[in-house]
Amino acid sequence: MAKLTIVPTPIGNLEDITLRALSTLRRVQLVLAEDTRTTGLLLKHYEIKCSLQSYHKFNEHQALEHICRRIEENQDVALVSDAGTPGISDPGFLLVRACLERGIEVECLPGATALVPALVASGLPCDRFSFEGFLPVKKGRQTRLKELADQPRTMVLYESPHRVLKTLEQLASELGEDRPAAAARELSKLHEEVVRGSLSELISHFSTHSPRGEFVLVVAGATPTKKQKTTDSQADNTDQ
Ligand code: SAM
Repeated sequence: MAKLTIVPTPIGNLEDITLRALSTLRRVQLVLAEDTRTTGLLLKHYEIKCSLQSYHKFNEHQALEHICRRIEENQDVALVSDAGTPGISDPGFLLVRACLERGIEVECLPGATALVPALVASGLPCDRFSFEGFLPVKKGRQTRLKELADQPRTMVLYESPHRVLKTLEQLASELGEDRPAAAARELSKLHEEVVRGSLSELISHFSTHSPRGEFVLVVAGATPTKKQKTTDSQADNTDQ
């Protein structure tokens, strides 16, 4: 029985692709790509010849039926995005859901994504964390920032270089300028850099070093107040 395979691709360094991802791209009858030119370069690098079709946020709704039908006709299909894991701030979710609703098997290969190296390299607790993706650009932005203020887990956000400074400033004003954070830039690329410090220190840094490249922001969760700690430990005792 054919299936849909989600295939992570490198976020910069072309060597960050698994052997299984390469053999899947060689094996399937159809590769769905966010941008066929970007994926074409990757395939060329690995000398993979396959049938490519566009699948991006502007056609993902209308393409679902056709893709599901092809898999039901016993053709194996792989989904890739421009970088990292499809479905993570990239198209993927709708197709996975549509396949599962029709009883089509879905597998997701483990592989590259920007959030994990940024989180782990940040030096902030990573036993529990909350992935926030991109903050809303306009509507709902302030509400989301306010929601984040009391959130106790480490937060991971994606941001474009021209909004990084503004986002750091807004995070500082809602979460406090002393909140520990890190900005991971150009991961796995030539100019990879992780800047660690308080939100105000990151703001100073990027006020003098113009933000360039791709960014992941990692921000420490709120420290529980004394009152919350007491309530939590009382709840723990009741659980036992
Ligand atoms: N699907 C991808 C993943 O699994 O990480 C994310 C795609 S999203 C459209 C692109 C965002 O991911 C960028 O704006 C940036 O926030 C982050 N990103 C991707 N590659 C990166 C890299 N090499 N270094 C830092 N951040 C990166």
